[in-house]
Amino acid sequence: MSARILVVEDEEALTTLLRYNLDAEGYDVETVARGDDAEVHLKERVPDLIVLDWMLPGLSGIELCRRLRARPETRNVPIIMLTARGEESERVRGLATGADDYVVKPFSVPEFLARVKSLLRRSNPERLATVLAYGDIELDRDRRRVARSGRPIDLGPTEYRLLEFFLEHPGRVFSREQLLDGVWGRDIYIDERTVDVHIGRLRKLLNSGTEVDPIRTVRGAGYALDDRFAKAE
Ligand code: CA
Repeated sequence: MSARILVVEDEEALTTLLRYNLDAEGYDVETVARGDDAEVHLKERVPDLIVLDWMLPGLSGIELCRRLRARPETRNVPIIMLTARGEESERVRGLATGADDYVVKPFSVPEFLARVKSLLRRSNPERLATVLAYGDIELDRDRRRVARSGRPIDLGPTEYRLLEFFLEHPGRVFSREQLLDGVWGRDIYIDERTVDVHIGRLRKLLNSGTEVDPIRTVRGAGYALDDRFAKAE
């Protein structure tokens, strides 16, 4: 599954350039031109990385960054801030608290792409790993095998993908809609209750006897791979 990047930028030419190059790198790119629209968008879907322009109509990049850092769902999403020359300096450093990196326009595309890559790797090394392990659960992507405490578990394709998705983001809470997007793909229309059915199946297959349920139901929010689970092992 390719990483999702949201580009929030009001300069059309730059948006086109970034989209083209990020696309070519295999990322799943979405673009928004206004700060307030980006905020609405981010309440529905959380990407793996945000490229955020400093000066935006509707809501400034800095203010959006501050709000994103205040929300648990977006607190840890890496943010690269784009600034125009002249906006840089200490002001940017001071105010852009919460951004993980910042790039001054005009910038070199290869350098920008290198920063995106390194930030994604830093924030989510699981995405690139062949074997995902959490607590006593192990998922081997090359062999497409799952085991719990060494006991092989035979999962259906959807349950496998669901577990893989959780293992890529341990601890993070996903709404049913986000799980549909991430596991089934965003172009497919499926009732959100389908998610509950597959979570139920996954639980049944994963948990044997007195084993601790690794999937946490968050009332009114969705599901997460319980971060207390790995620590309890
Ligand atoms: Ca701008």
